[in-house]
Amino acid sequence: MIEITGQSLLAGNWITPAGKTFQSFNPYNNASMYRFASCGSDEIDEATHAAESAFQTYRNLSGNTIGLFLNTIADEIEALGDQLLEVCDSETALGTVRLTGERGRTCGQLRAFAELAIKGEWVQASIDTAIPNRAPVPKPDLRRMMKAIGPVVVFGASNFPFAFSTLGGDTASALAAGNPVIVKGHPAHPATSELFAHAVAKAIEKCGVPIGVFSLLQGVGNELGTGLVKHPLIQAVGFTGSERGGRALMDIAAARPQPIPVYAEMGSINPVFVGPDTLQAQAESIATGLSGSVCMGTGQFCTSPGIVVSVASELFETTLKTKLSEAPRGYLLNPQIAASLQASLENLNSHPQLEWLNRAGFEAGSMTPPNAVFKISGKDFLADKTLSEEVFGPVTLYVECENEAQIVEVAESLNGNLTASVHADEDMDLAKTLFNILEQKVGRVIYNSYPTGVEVCPSQQHGGPYPASSVSTSTSVGVGAIVRFARFVAYQGTPDALLPEALQSENPLGIYRLVNGELTTAGI
Ligand code: NAP
Repeated sequence: MIEITGQSLLAGNWITPAGKTFQSFNPYNNASMYRFASCGSDEIDEATHAAESAFQTYRNLSGNTIGLFLNTIADEIEALGDQLLEVCDSETALGTVRLTGERGRTCGQLRAFAELAIKGEWVQASIDTAIPNRAPVPKPDLRRMMKAIGPVVVFGASNFPFAFSTLGGDTASALAAGNPVIVKGHPAHPATSELFAHAVAKAIEKCGVPIGVFSLLQGVGNELGTGLVKHPLIQAVGFTGSERGGRALMDIAAARPQPIPVYAEMGSINPVFVGPDTLQAQAESIATGLSGSVCMGTGQFCTSPGIVVSVASELFETTLKTKLSEAPRGYLLNPQIAASLQASLENLNSHPQLEWLNRAGFEAGSMTPPNAVFKISGKDFLADKTLSEEVFGPVTLYVECENEAQIVEVAESLNGNLTASVHADEDMDLAKTLFNILEQKVGRVIYNSYPTGVEVCPSQQHGGPYPASSVSTSTSVGVGAIVRFARFVAYQGTPDALLPEALQSENPLGIYRLVNGELTTAGI
């Protein structure tokens, strides 16, 4: 068992900073737990300088060494055993079953990025050989590939304490690309983050990579995150959380003398559309499926379905209402999320055009919210833009449209989202119209299913137009996430002796490259 000390890991040294203290909170019994102190500007400065120094070595390590490092981190996470699950459960109330699955996903992500680093093809090597006698001007030899970008700050997410936190997808992809990472730990699960830091510290020692390649700075209040994003040595940011937090960090990054990219994954209402004839034919089964998706993880998923758009159906409405009321209440992650949900439910309840179909109590201080469904007409929904904003928790809004044309109007009115789902077996013409609209508004269009449950594989797209993500061209899930933390460098007229191996003429890595427009593993 590892003793939880309340410390931060600063480039290999465990430290107790002098900043504001805070405690994690047990949602099961409202008890305060592990005490931590916040890092400040001194720790930011030390961690970033150590990261920059580590970068000069780490960026040039072979794919095999980086792959070994990532695989070793995954092994060390598994070696933390049940302590990791138990500590995290006490800080999040996510349950050890869910956390066991999330640990598998987290280690799977690390191993997938390890394989990517080892294979080496993610760099997208491309070579155009010279044509010295081309008229009117000779063509130079040009070779291009992706290279690491520099020290990256990762903000741990509250709702995925493993898969999107300290050693989650953002950290794994940034490390795989050859960048050091400084994690700003999420203040709601600091002891979980501390355990992860032990795992990575062991992997650093075992693999002999530079110690500055990873730091975990714990803290609460905005100063730590702001200071990290402002620091001139930081070159990119990964973030999952609220639209307000993500937007604040985007603005800070853009206002720096050297602006840097912020890959923020923020709010999404993940609309579910049901065609009128399909609703008629499948009212009960769709209401049941939707209810399961709304309640999953107590609605604390970025892909939780916040609205369902269709026409009137008494059977659908009754089934959805009943299923949500019968589903057991789950726990919220922390008191801030509970207070924010409480305020949102009060707001929705006082909205003159909204009807809370299964109204139930949610006392102040309670961590177990009702699974709620509200109803509004399509016309009233279209008249109030605020209803398109994310409510974080097990809440959905039934938008009851007059006809197909109004369903289409609702689709056209939506902001950017991570996903949109369409149930339309009996409404194929409507489905075609909706797909045409939705593929312009979301990162993933889903047919005949529900948005929760994000498969981690190369064809996944987790990111959509703002405000779902800050950079709609990127994904934070799947191996495609690596390119966020790398940039292309082209080498002109450069001899092999000065080129990275991926671009050398004989192709010593044996990777696929685009040579004069043809994908090949052959040398030149
Ligand atoms: P959050 O409030 O955005 O915080 C995420 C991280 O960013 C924390 O480490 C926070 O730490 C930091 N931060 C927030 N605002 C900042 C600012 N202005 N400047 C610098 N750092 C800042 O998200 P959360 O704590 O996970 O949950 C709160 C709300 O976020 C939820 O109620 C929900 O609405 C939303 N959320 C959405 C998703 C999603 O995937 N769509 C996921 C999780 C949460 P400090 O507070 O210590 O600065």
